[in-house]
Amino acid sequence: MTIFEGGPTIAVRARYDEVVSDRWPVFVRPQPGELLSSWTHRLAFANGIAPRPFGRVLGFGPGMWSSSLDMNFQSDAVNILSTHTGISLPELFTMSLKGSPLKRLLLPLRDDGRRRGSAWLQFCPQCLADDAHPYFRRQWRLATRISCSHHQCGLRDRCPACRSRIAVFNQVELVPQHFCVTCGFDLRQASKVSVSPSVRSLDQCIHDICGLEAITSSLLDNSLVRRLLAIPDICRQYAAASLVSLSTSARIRCFVRLVTRPNDWLIEDDDAVVRLWRRSILSANGHAPLIELLADALERKRLRFRPEKRRQPTTELSTLLTAYLQMMENPP
Ligand SMILES: [Zn+2]
Ligand SMILES: [Zn+2]
Repeated sequence: MTIFEGGPTIAVRARYDEVVSDRWPVFVRPQPGELLSSWTHRLAFANGIAPRPFGRVLGFGPGMWSSSLDMNFQSDAVNILSTHTGISLPELFTMSLKGSPLKRLLLPLRDDGRRRGSAWLQFCPQCLADDAHPYFRRQWRLATRISCSHHQCGLRDRCPACRSRIAVFNQVELVPQHFCVTCGFDLRQASKVSVSPSVRSLDQCIHDICGLEAITSSLLDNSLVRRLLAIPDICRQYAAASLVSLSTSARIRCFVRLVTRPNDWLIEDDDAVVRLWRRSILSANGHAPLIELLADALERKRLRFRPEKRRQPTTELSTLLTAYLQMMENPP
């Protein structure tokens, strides 16, 4: 077909919707350890949609839709995300918290309005400032995490300017997720929260112990989770409060008291190998990169995309611990 004499010839060769891709225009690569909701917010922003209307694209109503996506991995929504980004469902699943063995240690999705009350998400301002694309980490959802080992500082769970919790899911403006939804403060500018090396070390040891024991089913069955939740009671800081109910600054106060006590409460277990393992981690100040490597490798193995199946232990904890202890004694 020629539109005007001497003009170009236009031929309709295929239906437009068969030629154009299903993919959204801008691809956003997930970052290491990124939370699914964080990546979803960045994806929305990169494609020119604010998080709240983007929630509607995925079939959600108002509210904490993206935090709910982290926990529940709703199939309709993740199918849309996978189709339009090309990222596989298993990869999206590893970014979620669905089926996490540490579920009981996750900060709850509720705002009780109390100053000392917990928030659902924490952040390290320095990590956000260093990121090329600021993003929120999965481990910042854990009540047992109170500090950043990399920047040697405490985490925050509120905007320092207006004291609001981090509510990117409510954002209706087209701004990146590291700006407070309520007042627009740049969270990267938040001042450093100082925590002592002993507090950071205890935080890291608990993280390593949990990370490794979560690989087997043992963490679900033993009393460690119960004791971690009772930290406010154990350190006599906030009697009868559960660790997950407290703000980050209140939990830091608990850890400050906790490091003045012996670690028996953390080491105690019926299994002698487990006791030995925990003691080794504590004496190494949780500074064993090997633990992280082992935990990462086994976590990836565990998180094969079988969300509806009952999780099977991938290895015997005692075998793993024995191998680790041998390596500690005879380093390569
Ligand atoms: Zn950091
Ligand atoms: Zn604010």
